Amino acid sequence: MPDSPTPSPWLDLTTPITDQMLHWPDNAPVHIRPTRSMAWGDAANVTELSLSAHTATHVDAPRHFLAEGADVTQLDLSTLMGPARVVRIEHEQFVTRDELERQLPEVQPGARLLFRTRNTERNWSVQPFTQDFVKVRADAAKWLRDNGVVCVGVDYLSVGPADTHKILLGASITVIEGLNLRQAEPGRYDIICLPLLIEGADGAPARIIARRLQE
Ligand SMILES: [Zn+2]
Repeated sequence: MPDSPTPSPWLDLTTPITDQMLHWPDNAPVHIRPTRSMAWGDAANVTELSLSAHTATHVDAPRHFLAEGADVTQLDLSTLMGPARVVRIEHEQFVTRDELERQLPEVQPGARLLFRTRNTERNWSVQPFTQDFVKVRADAAKWLRDNGVVCVGVDYLSVGPADTHKILLGASITVIEGLNLRQAEPGRYDIICLPLLIEGADGAPARIIARRLQE
């Protein structure tokens, strides 16, 4: 039997959740605080979490922008596990249809695409909030929908404006936001992304790991 190649190590593409980290201005702030502490004489340490569903690395459910849409418990997890491509986006402001057509001439239905943009170089999770991030434009969202892409990941807290969200979520494309792609060079990967199972929620924090596939 031929030697099978050594599998690549798993990379963690998750942005850590930290106390008072960057959040969308009209979302709740992030608080992580002890409610019991051995330092105070309690028998155990217990931490309380207070955060928006759209904190750090998270998945959006259709309900985020569609009033009657599915909640996060109804997402098809198969869209979040399996082969994926990390694509380096060159445009400084937008993910555009033109660039996707040029970079992904052989995209297939069922594709999972993670966009590494200049957002990744900015260590955005500790910066003051800014609207100056690379956004998926509506024309690119339509292209993703029309090509049968099932999962889109981005390296900032938001995939883009409301129309982009509506196009993607309306087509049941699973959207992962807040990825940490600093270690992920462009190429083919195997990914596993699991959002927390929170009933009624329009999104949920998720852990995502990825392993490089042989080209
Ligand atoms: Zn979100």
